[in-house]
Amino acid sequence: MQPILFDIENLTHCYADGTIALRNLSLTVKQGKKIAILGNNGAGKSTLLLHLNGILQPTNGTIRFKGREVKYDRKSLLSLRKHVGIVFQDPDSQLFSANVIQDIAFGPQNLGLPKEEVLRKVEWAMEQTETTEFSDKPTHFLSLGQKKRVAIAGVLAMDPEIIILDEPTAGLDSYFSKQIMNVLDHIQKQGKTIILSTHDVNLAYQWADEIIIMHDGEILCYGDPVTVFEQAHLIRKAHLDAPWVMETFQFLVQEKFFSSNEAIPQNKEELFQKISSIKSWNLGKISG
Ligand code: ADP
Repeated sequence: MQPILFDIENLTHCYADGTIALRNLSLTVKQGKKIAILGNNGAGKSTLLLHLNGILQPTNGTIRFKGREVKYDRKSLLSLRKHVGIVFQDPDSQLFSANVIQDIAFGPQNLGLPKEEVLRKVEWAMEQTETTEFSDKPTHFLSLGQKKRVAIAGVLAMDPEIIILDEPTAGLDSYFSKQIMNVLDHIQKQGKTIILSTHDVNLAYQWADEIIIMHDGEILCYGDPVTVFEQAHLIRKAHLDAPWVMETFQFLVQEKFFSSNEAIPQNKEELFQKISSIKSWNLGKISG
């Protein structure tokens, strides 16, 4: 049984203008998972993520990190943020140094690490995000996708135990989206916990161990991707579509290519493997 990192109870967040962004939300997050928070615009994903790093404070309810209630004095927040790194949706709110390498080094330097270690972590983070080629460039000359990768590199370089990413692939092309997801896979295998928000159902379905569906400040369902997406009425309520892998498989079941007892594939490779396994039967059906 994995230890619990976050234990959130009845969290409500009301912004200064009266908008209630989170309503009485409860959630536990276990260590070592890849968690995707899915929901349409305005569902409350960013607001929830900002609470995990202590940037926002609950209006009501409690957040415990490793069994202790989160406190909001400077010292407690510094300690929380050593464990929990966050990559904001908008990289411009994260990048402020003169050039790329200085920006990525800022975090580990601030942790007071020895110079060689800072350099090692920065080089590693730049390799992972392919940002080495523009390491000397001023950050304000970068494209949105490049800024996003630099912001991710800055958090990776701090080597936090939990990495939170708000819409990490928004603004990235398909090559860099895949590459960032591969990096996240790689670091999760080293024992990190990754929590990201997205409105990309296909990305969440294929990548995550656990999916949280949010709508109007509430969690509609939480669980493994297949179980979550099997609840079609909740997916519709959240204004989301079914992932194409699941939809294709369900069509093939409906057309009697597969029995409804067959396990639902979670990614393209699993789906293709299933289709290959019935190829001869399938060909027979076509020619017959
Ligand atoms: P998501 O990340 O799912 O798009 P958000 O957490 O950004 O959702 O927003 C949830 C709700 O809170 C929305 O209604 C949004 O308009 C509102 N909201 C977000 N930030 C603020 C803010 N600073 N002040 C007032 N309302 C806000």
